[in-house]
Amino acid sequence: MIDLKNMTLDELEKFFINIGESKYRAKQVFRWIYRGVYNFKDMSDLKKELRSKLNDIAYISSLKVVKKMVSNIDETTKYLFLLNDDNIIEGVAMKYNFGNTSCISTQVGCNMKCSFCASTIEGKVRNLKASEMINEVLIMNNEYGKISNIVLMGSGEPFDNYEEVMKFIKIVNNPFGMGIGIRHITISTCGIVPKIYNFADENLGVNLSISLHAPTNELRNKLMPINKVYPIEDLMDACKYYINKTHRRVTFEYSLIKGVNDSIEICKKLTDLLKGLLCHVNLIPINYVDEIGFKKTDNNTIMIFKNILERAGITCTVRRELGSDIEAACGQLRRKYMAGRVK
Ligand code: SF4
Repeated sequence: MIDLKNMTLDELEKFFINIGESKYRAKQVFRWIYRGVYNFKDMSDLKKELRSKLNDIAYISSLKVVKKMVSNIDETTKYLFLLNDDNIIEGVAMKYNFGNTSCISTQVGCNMKCSFCASTIEGKVRNLKASEMINEVLIMNNEYGKISNIVLMGSGEPFDNYEEVMKFIKIVNNPFGMGIGIRHITISTCGIVPKIYNFADENLGVNLSISLHAPTNELRNKLMPINKVYPIEDLMDACKYYINKTHRRVTFEYSLIKGVNDSIEICKKLTDLLKGLLCHVNLIPINYVDEIGFKKTDNNTIMIFKNILERAGITCTVRRELGSDIEAACGQLRRKYMAGRVK
């Protein structure tokens, strides 16, 4: 059986031609899928024989929500989804003044071993299929309200699942489907350098965000082991290539960890690294994770850090803390659910 949700419109057209049907049937089915109709018998503009043929050879996948936590502070909602093979992934829906944003997982777990992240503690289980990522967004779209922005910043490293992530982008961006604007999609990578070059060459117009978190190899090696494979110099070269190729700015994510990467000296090294680059810095007060024990930088230090960057001409925002009462940090809720500590 073939999952029609795991196909781009082009692939769906080829599928219909291969089964001896007209190409235009693909657009009809594609539209039904993204209107939330998953049963072929309800697709009223398909002839009866085609509906029964599809029933025999294809299906349209969905996910089950096993847990949902809603923040009393800001309505941020965290979802745990059950996959067909009994794995669990998580996604978060958040309200911003520019619309609802869906933060999705791209893998079950993660292999990247960033020291501040709960998603990686047990490593990667498997990559998600494009259809599974789409289902995360569709469920949030139906339950939370219209999703207008997607960030690939949940569990998993998107560039470690490159092909499926590119397919996902093509599907959600298609105007006959969800029609999420390409500029409303952001991919966040920990710095898989060869894929940044590939991504730049695709020139899709999707926003690129780099999880930087340290301005020196010495510190970044400790926080993010990927840096031992692709050191900061290589990462910066790849970012410059991306900027030259796409004429788009890069956002650098910088999680502030008390006593680790939040000193004035380190901030000055960060300004030296980024000065003159078409970029933006997003400072993130780190979420506390029991097993890791890193602590959040205090607000005063965050503002000093921000001011130093801005004085050097680097635009900078402090990410609003959302869902602090529902363990909205990457991987936290999934781990607690798996350990039986959240029912
Ligand atoms: S921060 Fe992202 S890349 Fe790093 S371990 Fe967590 S999920 Fe993986």
